[in-house]
Amino acid sequence: MPLGPARPGTQLPQAPPQAHEEAQREFALTLSGFTAQDKPQYEDYARCVHCGLCLNHCPTYRLLGREADSPRGRIRQMALVDQGRLELGDAFVTHIDRCLDCRACETACPSGVEYGKLVELARAQIEQKYRRPFASRVARNFVYRRLLPYPKRIAAAARFACFYQRSGLAAIARASGILRLLGLSEREALMPQIDREFFFSELGKTFPAQGTRRARVAFFAGCVAQVSFSELNRATIRVLQANGCEVVVPEGQVCCGALAAHAGVRDVARSLARTNIEAFRAADFDAILTNAAGCGSTLKEYGDLFPVDGAGADSSASRRTPAPKGEHEARSFSGRVRDVTEFLVESGLSFPLKPVPLRVTYQDSCHLLHGQKVREAPRKLIRAIPGVELVEMLHADQCCGSAGVYNVTETKTSLELLAQKMECAGQTKAQAIVTANPGCILQLRAGAAIHHTGQRVLHVIELLDRAL
Ligand code: SF4
Ligand code: SF4
Repeated sequence: MPLGPARPGTQLPQAPPQAHEEAQREFALTLSGFTAQDKPQYEDYARCVHCGLCLNHCPTYRLLGREADSPRGRIRQMALVDQGRLELGDAFVTHIDRCLDCRACETACPSGVEYGKLVELARAQIEQKYRRPFASRVARNFVYRRLLPYPKRIAAAARFACFYQRSGLAAIARASGILRLLGLSEREALMPQIDREFFFSELGKTFPAQGTRRARVAFFAGCVAQVSFSELNRATIRVLQANGCEVVVPEGQVCCGALAAHAGVRDVARSLARTNIEAFRAADFDAILTNAAGCGSTLKEYGDLFPVDGAGADSSASRRTPAPKGEHEARSFSGRVRDVTEFLVESGLSFPLKPVPLRVTYQDSCHLLHGQKVREAPRKLIRAIPGVELVEMLHADQCCGSAGVYNVTETKTSLELLAQKMECAGQTKAQAIVTANPGCILQLRAGAAIHHTGQRVLHVIELLDRAL
């Protein structure tokens, strides 16, 4: 109930400072368009001084030329919704959905705005407060809640997709024009090629080091990667073994939760994080390695999913919720995560490399460069291979348009960004585009096919594996 003004001479009881803070927070929340759960804090927006230095680094701003589709514009909209001055409605959701979460703005920002955190929290608010169209609700519910958390369901869906791709059904669907009629032809081109043998069969195994053991590492195998990048995973293990690593692939690991976290489905991301922390807890690993930059970025930020009072964790979620038992382990888990390229450069290559005569260009994966700030490691590994000529492309640090499921949800924008990327890659006259994330590989392969460039697309590790 609102309090009236105090009568003269009336001494109001002094609330403890903590209660005062609590009351302020309650008051702010009555005005806010956001809820208390997974909410950005004022300090998160306040770091943005509206200088605009990020604008030219933002792919959606460069493409669409609208302030509302720039980092600065989106932060402003978040703050306005939070203050109750802008409706959390269709327009807000459109501009937030259109963001790639590529975090190029974070790298460009001189004020240290943690944009990735902001946009994921804004999406968490949308998830809680906005009713999407029926088809979107069904699709999101299926993908984030019913499919990705369950490896057996991923395998079942992959077997179905594999039958579609290899039985001739896909060829018939393409030739008949039905895909075009349903508006699915471009999305179908972006579909991953499903492997015959899934990587799930390798879970629980340990692969010995070749020669003297230099390290014992755990390998994080991904979710979709286990059905469409099994060979990349096997190549990663081969390269690590050759480099003197004993590689353990812990059983019980699940999807890292990146797709769910990026979509604002944070309860699922948290649950997946808990499972992974448990799966990788048992043994004494020197590092937890991934070959997927998108996964690595989220694995390194598990701490942000779990607010802990006074522990320097994510200040954005409710400080009143005590951390559940063991959640502080998220930080120690994250501290051990390394991208495989980062790890190989840190530990040094100890095996001889055969020449691979190839002219290549490197496309930075956003979540490796902007999310994890790893720029040089993949380039150093490429340059270390005799015979490989690395030619830098223009705007290698700009998103290719893959961005998790962005190429499916925002196909038109994604394909426009991809066309720009293929133009830049084509200018280098490289025979192969090398990158460090399976999602980027899928997008770039689709780009090479759509634009008939004839370029191969490889992971840095696949290039190293060829040099073994
Ligand atoms: S996000 Fe950073 S770079 Fe962009 S306008 Fe704000 S302070 Fe400037
Ligand atoms: S994350 Fe990428 S698309 Fe989104 S505002 Fe930042 S630079 Fe633009």
